[in-house]
Amino acid sequence: MSKTQEQWKQELDSETYKITRQAGTGAAFSGKYWDLKAAGIRNCAACGEALFMSGTKYDSGSGWPSFSAPAGDGVVGENPDQPYGMIRSEVVCKKCDSHLGHVFPDGPPETGLRDCINSASLQFDGGEAKNEEGS
Ligand code: FE
Repeated sequence: MSKTQEQWKQELDSETYKITRQAGTGAAFSGKYWDLKAAGIRNCAACGEALFMSGTKYDSGSGWPSFSAPAGDGVVGENPDQPYGMIRSEVVCKKCDSHLGHVFPDGPPETGLRDCINSASLQFDGGEAKNEEGS
């Protein structure tokens, strides 16, 4: 999927555009989903790809939606991004290359990973996950 910055700018609201297409970061404890515990799928806000399932969501205390793993292999890509010696990688939607957030190696035991994702990069869909356990 390739769209020009101008196309993205017209399609997305300004906050989503700034974060997904310009690698911005939303403020902690303020996004629409950081504290959402409902069962459901978190889709890419830009292209709709299913990125994270509620079963992997956990309370990291960071103020951003946090997940121990993406929804499947290959749905997100990682780019090294380590300013100031921080150990992390940028996480992007593999389908549309939108910036989602960062992954850190301090997650829960199952994976050891913390996908720290901006609310504005996600679109919640609770409609098809009624049997999935919320977290
Ligand atoms: Fe996407």
